[in-house]
Amino acid sequence: MQLRTARLCLDCEEVHDEYRCPVCASDQFTYMSRWVPTPERLSRPRPAPTPPPEAEAYRQIVRGTPPPRKSRGFTKALVGLSAAGLGAAGLAGLFLGARRARGGDAGKKDED
Ligand SMILES: [Zn+2]
Repeated sequence: MQLRTARLCLDCEEVHDEYRCPVCASDQFTYMSRWVPTPERLSRPRPAPTPPPEAEAYRQIVRGTPPPRKSRGFTKALVGLSAAGLGAAGLAGLFLGARRARGGDAGKKDED
């Protein structure tokens, strides 16, 4: 029995939580919380609920975004190809830059 639901029978002073007193069958009662203060029910913050996996699916349906698996795979492939392309371009730039530097040096040497 919880303090918030505890009732005091006004006829026989029995404490119960039913509609009628189980001892004298009286329906005259008062709540115990009238005299005994109950702590706030949510004095401590409730832990954040973990959303069920279906919630994300519903959220995507509502937002109108495509399902994540195919798009994620495609996006990952696109990102991977982009990174590889950038890396290749960077290497080519380094190679060409070094070649130009060498060519410039060689040209100066040839001029001397
Ligand atoms: Zn009673």
